[in-house]
Amino acid sequence: MTETAAALVDRLTAIVQDFPKPGILFRDVTPVFSDPVAFGRVCEALAAPFAVGEGFQAVAGIEARGFALAGGIAAQHQVGVLTVRKAGKLPGEVLSEQYALEYGEAELELRPGQLPQGTRVLVVDDVLATGGTAAATITLLERAGYEAIGFAALLELDGLAGRERVEARVPVTTLGAVP
Ligand code: AMP
Repeated sequence: MTETAAALVDRLTAIVQDFPKPGILFRDVTPVFSDPVAFGRVCEALAAPFAVGEGFQAVAGIEARGFALAGGIAAQHQVGVLTVRKAGKLPGEVLSEQYALEYGEAELELRPGQLPQGTRVLVVDDVLATGGTAAATITLLERAGYEAIGFAALLELDGLAGRERVEARVPVTTLGAVP
């Protein structure tokens, strides 16, 4: 029987204890990327709920593991990619959005003016935790004049209310929930 995208994510994701800091249970999805069957299948599954109706016209990937997923989905749907980067990596004019992490602050940046105003953009990342990263990305896209139409991630972490936070802005799809 064909293994579903959710089953592939569950089987291939590695759990790394105390990375990058003590107390964090890190979900390493890179084995999903390196598996030739799993990568295409998860890209299809992440985009499927958003490919109906008006669909999406671009995919925004969040640095860094979101870049791989955005590239795969964009190629399957023949649309382009926007890269949402950590502060200081993009040349020229950028929009910046600061947001709170569990400990400290983070900042994401986007180059405006790369696609027409009103472009419908699907946002993708590997893991949804508190939702701060996804929310900041949606804000950046809106400030750039795009329409964020959804957020998709391989995994969501239970108990951090990330889904609720992002669902207040756009529909959310993930391929599994983990503690
Ligand atoms: P958040 O903004 O709290 O939703 O965190 C999501 C971002 O942090 C994503 O870009 C993930 O790559 C990363 N992240 C947070 N927690 C984890 C985790 N337990 N395992 C892997 N990545 C994580």
